[in-house]
Amino acid sequence: EAFVAKVSAAKALNAFLVETPEHALAAADAADAARAAGETLKPLAGVPIGMKDLFCTKGVATTAASHILEGFTPTYESTVSQNLWDAGAGMLGKLNMDQFAMGSSNETSAFGNVISPWRRSDGGNAPLAPGGSSGGSSTAVAARLCPGATGTDTGGSIRQPAAFTGISGIKPTYGRCSRWGTIAFASSLDQVGPMAHDVRDCAIMLGAMAGFDAKDATSLKLDVPAWEAGLSSDMKGLRVGIPKEYRVDGMPEEIEALWQQGIDWLKDAGAEIVEVSLPHTKYALPAYYIIAPAEASSNLARYDGVRYGIRDLPAGAGLQDMYAATRADGFGPEVKRRIMIGTYVLSAGFYDAYYTQAQKIRTLIARDFEQAWAKCDVLLTPTAPSAAFALGEKSDDPIAMYLNDVFTVPSSLAGLPAMSVPGGLDHHGLPLGLQIIGKPLDEQGVLNAGLAIE
Ligand code: GLN
Repeated sequence: EAFVAKVSAAKALNAFLVETPEHALAAADAADAARAAGETLKPLAGVPIGMKDLFCTKGVATTAASHILEGFTPTYESTVSQNLWDAGAGMLGKLNMDQFAMGSSNETSAFGNVISPWRRSDGGNAPLAPGGSSGGSSTAVAARLCPGATGTDTGGSIRQPAAFTGISGIKPTYGRCSRWGTIAFASSLDQVGPMAHDVRDCAIMLGAMAGFDAKDATSLKLDVPAWEAGLSSDMKGLRVGIPKEYRVDGMPEEIEALWQQGIDWLKDAGAEIVEVSLPHTKYALPAYYIIAPAEASSNLARYDGVRYGIRDLPAGAGLQDMYAATRADGFGPEVKRRIMIGTYVLSAGFYDAYYTQAQKIRTLIARDFEQAWAKCDVLLTPTAPSAAFALGEKSDDPIAMYLNDVFTVPSSLAGLPAMSVPGGLDHHGLPLGLQIIGKPLDEQGVLNAGLAIE
């Protein structure tokens, strides 16, 4: 009840698009009844969580923060949300996000930006970006509106908003969590994961969310490890790699200092620090911004005014006119930009020059990581090259916005588990995140290093 009241009192943050108090309260009642009956409680019994609006939720409006999906009410439940309900959790509501998960500041939402609960300590009162695309999730957790929220991460959308708001979030290995019922952005990159106050909460939530699902062809047929039980901050014998290529030109000194602090903390916990090289890092961002739009342009072809959401049917119009009018009206500018880039790089004549090249780079980046694992067990880097920027600061400059993803996209291209944990504050008193990247399927190693830093 306290969380339900907080959510409804915090409308100014614009974190929730839909509130579903009855769902959360029903889960709490079920937990109470189970406790009264002396039953063993489920791992998330009665825990109220926020759901990113990219997850289809049966009977509850789902828009991906796009006008084109207004009026769409799914008749089915995504696998990950169903897994959470099966573990006893309840839903406080659907969380705002960048439209179709495209963005790094939550400003591409068709329903207004989310406002970070953080402010600069020097009195500069400019509202700050909560990060993106899971900006509603980061804000809802950071503002204590819910103890945990779901996020999705295609190129950093769990980790960067977690870093901007001083919380933790983990993107598991590609295939750990089912993508079924999660609205697709770039299918070969999309992964689902939890955002929460600390590493333990992330471990508990991820344990409930993950698992094989026959309905997702890329789902991994593996048991879910007991991540919470396996938590340990003892780093003895662990080799932590510091990739030298992540020291990018113009990196602010305080990001360098943050990184050094993280290195010292892990050393103090017993880890051995080794320098490693990921030579193709500088090509990751351009490759990502070809591959992700290419897949998006294909995935988003389904929004045609026939099957879901809005339909614009000008008088006397034919089918093509209806498609054009619906898509022109329904998609926001960033989504249109991605569709145009995506169709361009996939078109005959440009396919080899852009898409094929980007796919080759993706392979080289994955190989860089494979070679690094010969020398280390996890990698430590900053999560983002800056603290939260002001709303509006980068919204007219897509390239500046894309550059914010420089540290998060390489591990996405390689499908690796990666987490952001709070690492300290910048000179404005704003949170900064440290990123831990792990070997395929080694979420435990990532969580444990996160615990040692936390
Ligand atoms: N900011 C990146 C993009 O706009 C990543 C988004 C995401 O991970 N969903 O594509």
